[in-house]
Amino acid sequence: MAGEPQADCLFCKIVAGEVPATVVRETETTVAFRDINPQAPTHVLVIPKVHHPDAASLSAAEPEIAADILREAGRVAEDEGVDGSGYRVVFNTGSGAGQTVFHAHAHVLGGRGLNWPPG
Ligand code: 5GP
Repeated sequence: MAGEPQADCLFCKIVAGEVPATVVRETETTVAFRDINPQAPTHVLVIPKVHHPDAASLSAAEPEIAADILREAGRVAEDEGVDGSGYRVVFNTGSGAGQTVFHAHAHVLGGRGLNWPPG
């Protein structure tokens, strides 16, 4: 069922504490943790505790939690001290766009110059 934990989902396992992660923020609906393979000095993932495969399905099913993700992304940027210099919030959606973990997540990237357009 939509939103239910999935046994084979890595990020559901992080939410459940079954896979370790360096958690930097947590709310009733979200968890933020450091990416295992950081692409910038600040690279934090913000995920919903509920399972949805990508940001579009999350926002369609539970828009208030999608808003929580955006708010938490901003707070991560503040906590990390990258809000002043600029940072990027990315939702890779679909394997063609580089999505590899099919549990909705925002990448919060900052602490270095970020080119546009992205690769
Ligand atoms: P995607 O490619 O789906 O947009 O992003 C998935 C992200 O999850 C990647 O940046 C990858 O480095 C990160 N990742 C994959 N496995 C783990 C893990 O076990 N722990 C953490 N903290 N991050 C992970």
